[in-house]
Amino acid sequence: MSKQLYIETVGCQMNMLDSELVVASLRKAGYVVVDTPAKADTILFNTCSVRQHAEDKIYSALGRLKHAKKHNPNKIIGVMGCMAQKDQKLIFERAPFVDLVVGPGQLHQIPELIEKIGAGAGQQLEVSLDRKAGTRAEIEQSFESYDPLRDPQMRPTPFQAFVRIMIGCDKFCTYCIVPSVRGPEQSRPAAHIVAEARQLADEGCREITLLGQTVNSYKHSAGGRTHRLSDLLAELHEIEGLARLKFVTNYPKDMTDDLLEAVRDLPKVSPYLHVPVQSGSNRILQRMKRGYTVEEYREMLARIRETIPEAAVTSDFIVGFCGETDEDFDQTSELVRESRFKNSFIFKYSERPGTKSVQLYPDDVPEEVKKRRNNELLAVQNEISEEDNLPLVGRNVEVLVEGPSKAARRHEDEDSPTLQLVGRTHCDRIVVFEGNRRQIGQLLDVTVIDANAFTLFGSVVTQHVGPEVYSL
Ligand code: SAM
Ligand code: SF4
Repeated sequence: MSKQLYIETVGCQMNMLDSELVVASLRKAGYVVVDTPAKADTILFNTCSVRQHAEDKIYSALGRLKHAKKHNPNKIIGVMGCMAQKDQKLIFERAPFVDLVVGPGQLHQIPELIEKIGAGAGQQLEVSLDRKAGTRAEIEQSFESYDPLRDPQMRPTPFQAFVRIMIGCDKFCTYCIVPSVRGPEQSRPAAHIVAEARQLADEGCREITLLGQTVNSYKHSAGGRTHRLSDLLAELHEIEGLARLKFVTNYPKDMTDDLLEAVRDLPKVSPYLHVPVQSGSNRILQRMKRGYTVEEYREMLARIRETIPEAAVTSDFIVGFCGETDEDFDQTSELVRESRFKNSFIFKYSERPGTKSVQLYPDDVPEEVKKRRNNELLAVQNEISEEDNLPLVGRNVEVLVEGPSKAARRHEDEDSPTLQLVGRTHCDRIVVFEGNRRQIGQLLDVTVIDANAFTLFGSVVTQHVGPEVYSL
């Protein structure tokens, strides 16, 4: 009899990829994936620790399972990923009915650990070494992830895939928990990445997004040759069948000219660059230990605009970081106004135990002030996003069709020949248009007929009448 698995994933694309790999290994062990915890005999939460809110959500989801476990003690409940690495035994203390706690470096052990629990071995905890608990080599090894088994059914869509090119982070921004829970920065061998991408292309994948916490710091040497991200992109560009290559997240200091030239010269590489600045105040950037000044970020942005004028640049911001004054925040708003990011992800500072900022500075910006600054910055960004989207009305864009839009999924009618579809332009703008199922997974020319800050609305170009298709 097959075993039923329910998996819930929160957090970043790295977590989405980890869930795909865990599901692939469990499917191999005879599991089928179900869509509610009630139907499952194994329930896994893939967790995030970047902000308190993400952890609170998991602890309350666990709380809701307490009774289910009482009724059915054979149900296996597991917590995997960043919160597992951060909280370790504390998870068993707060939720004693949890059977399994597994850090990001031990995910390959999950099938075996579940089997042990099923055989009566009791609670299982597998995590990596603390970052100060051994030599660099020992710690690196304890975080090493396994050669992935891919599972097309767990991808965002069958023709889009994430590929990890590095794990961990060594930047130690003072607010950030990632270096502790994801371990030291380690780049994967280029040959492994290219082989994985080739296999994905053979399975019909059109778009690959390369993942790393600081993806543009990628560097791997083997056989007397060093690969940087620009070299890797050039090799991946040769793979037949792939149409688009993206990479996230970039660290501003490592935005080198060779990388910008690769984006400019390799047509499959999307002119889309996510380069978080976090704050527009030098005083705050210094407290965050980001390693650059606002002037240096501006200079980098100018180089991007000069080399790739059509590039869409996006950013992350933290508002209400320790000691942030109205003046610091005004400088951030000013930077958003002048930088014309395609969009920005804006977060209220969330104090993370174990990070440097907790030791160094009080979390002294009141919650209402954080909320207000968050809303204000979002309003500035949305105005810019809309201003930059409106001139696209009337133009043709090339869209990779991802599937039915959210609205179409809500009212799905299998018999209807047409439905609302959603896709993205080369530079990651979301496009919604009326189409049909056969177009899913294709690259289509779409005329933009309307736009707001978040979405372009279009209609499919049936006959190509325009002078040229703009690649956005
Ligand atoms: N490695 C990426 C980078 O350096 O930009 C991103 C890592 S983090 C998962 C994604 C974003 O979460 C960061 O860019 C930052 O804006 C935000 N973030 C990280 N720690 C945070 C904290 N303690 N409170 C609020 N936001 C945080
Ligand atoms: Fe966190 Fe900074 Fe590393 Fe990004 S670069 S993961 S924000 S420590």
